[in-house]
Amino acid sequence: MHTLIIGGGIGGLTAAALLAKTGHDVTLLEASLEWGGCAGKFQRRHTLFPVGATLGMGFEQGGLHERVLRLLGKEVPLRLLDEVMVLHFPKRIITYYRDRKQHLDSICGHFPHVDKQIRSFYAELWTAAASIRKLMKPLPALPPKTAGEWAYLLSSLSPEHVLLAPFARATLLDRLRAYGLDQESAFIHVLDGQLIDSMQTTSRHVSYLMAATALDIYHEGAYYVEGGLYRVAERLVESIQENGGILKKNRRVVSTKKDNYWIAVDQRGNEYSAQHIVFNGALQQLPSLVSGLSGRHRAMADVLTWVTHTLYLTLDGSLIPDQFPLFQQISADSMSEGSHLFMSISAPDDRLRATEGKRTMTVSTHSSPDHWSTKEQYDSYKDRLTEKMLSMIETVYPDFRKAVMVMETGAPKAWERYTLRPNGFVGGFPQTVRHALFGSLSHRSGIPNLWLCGDSIFPGGGTIGATASGIHCARSIAPGLFEL
Ligand SMILES: Cc1cc2nc3c(=O)[nH]c(=O)nc-3n(C[C@H](O)[C@H](O)[C@H](O)COP(=O)(O)OP(=O)(O)OC[C@H]3O[C@@H](n4cnc5c(N)ncnc54)[C@H](O)[C@@H]3O)c2cc1C
Repeated sequence: MHTLIIGGGIGGLTAAALLAKTGHDVTLLEASLEWGGCAGKFQRRHTLFPVGATLGMGFEQGGLHERVLRLLGKEVPLRLLDEVMVLHFPKRIITYYRDRKQHLDSICGHFPHVDKQIRSFYAELWTAAASIRKLMKPLPALPPKTAGEWAYLLSSLSPEHVLLAPFARATLLDRLRAYGLDQESAFIHVLDGQLIDSMQTTSRHVSYLMAATALDIYHEGAYYVEGGLYRVAERLVESIQENGGILKKNRRVVSTKKDNYWIAVDQRGNEYSAQHIVFNGALQQLPSLVSGLSGRHRAMADVLTWVTHTLYLTLDGSLIPDQFPLFQQISADSMSEGSHLFMSISAPDDRLRATEGKRTMTVSTHSSPDHWSTKEQYDSYKDRLTEKMLSMIETVYPDFRKAVMVMETGAPKAWERYTLRPNGFVGGFPQTVRHALFGSLSHRSGIPNLWLCGDSIFPGGGTIGATASGIHCARSIAPGLFEL
């Protein structure tokens, strides 16, 4: 049985690696010259930049990356972060601690007038998160589409999960209201900063159950990966090769058709036939590649999501303060674009990222696609947003610009060019009550033997989400052939 995987992001590579491990014939086609997509890298002489993803989760014992890498017999070099990141707000600086109690004490120290309410709120949130983690451990696929998937979901449930039912339609704001915290705008702003980066939406709309997972996950373990998260993609590629899979870069699939078998055609006119196709690109690209997509998948393919503007900086390490945190958020009073940044810098001794004395940094902000529609608008907005982001960094580090040796930008068109995400849409769909969990998109496309993985598909964005959907595809194609 032959499976063709379109796209070498984390989702596609995971599906390919698991299938190859079970003895399946797999061919994976990647349009670009790099593996890993949004969690890949690019190189400039002696410096290396993560394209997007930098902060690693799911590497702890039992975490999803750890489980996949263990099955494949692979490892990536990691540093566990006790101080996950530093959050800068105009009136306060908050350290996000891995240890739950230390984190809670620190947050309550900033909002002492609602100390009791915050503690009760977190007690509920962490209980919910632990319960969801237990439910998701066997990796049920949502929304269930077959009798087998329903049966598997039901077998993953235990009596404690009944307690989650009342929260199924709740937003995070609903639960903040229940604890008298819905008017605590400064506290909510702290939560929103975390949620926009992981859930692509904020407390007002985010599904409470997804928010609980997102606000808890760093306490399970957040990691700096030596060199960058691209090392996960590298390990998956190694495993696919070792198990006889075929990998080809610079092969962009431009069309597909189905007879008895699928036929995919790349930009050079080469044809690839397969019994199954796994598509790993953004859902918005799919209607241009296959006909017959219908229902929710077709409808969601027209939905616009966030784009991002990213700065890639080479810095003079001697001008960076010694205690400069590896991961930071800088937020102004509002969450408007350019007013909330996620920054990550290479560790001073990470020689894969930069030579001695230099550091590389990636800074990103969410942006609306509306700002980038015409050529004139695009160029001027790119400059304005770049300037706004640099000025935001200077509010915290006034001499920052002196350390910048080289700067490149990654505006939405660059993202589109390198990852084939239409308009540069990133991050998948916002995890709102409507679009999360049972409202999310199944890895079953609705077209026989066309499977979907990546951050548009349940459970959603981030490398863990992409991994989970890759596992669901592999499991559906090769049922019962691997245990994670
Ligand atoms: C700025 C930014 C920061 C982020 N930070 C983090 C973070 O710190 N931690 C984290 O866990 N996550 C982070 N994420 C999210 C994470 O990077 C993504 O959710 C995840 O990597 C998406 O993986 P994917 O499998 O959906 O595939 P993608 O990364 O989208 O890869 C898809 C691949 O398929 C290829 N492809 C597409 N169409 C075709 C075609 N027609 N033919 C051939 N190849 C094709 C593309 O070239 C690409 O390589 C971040 C994302 C961004 C944008």
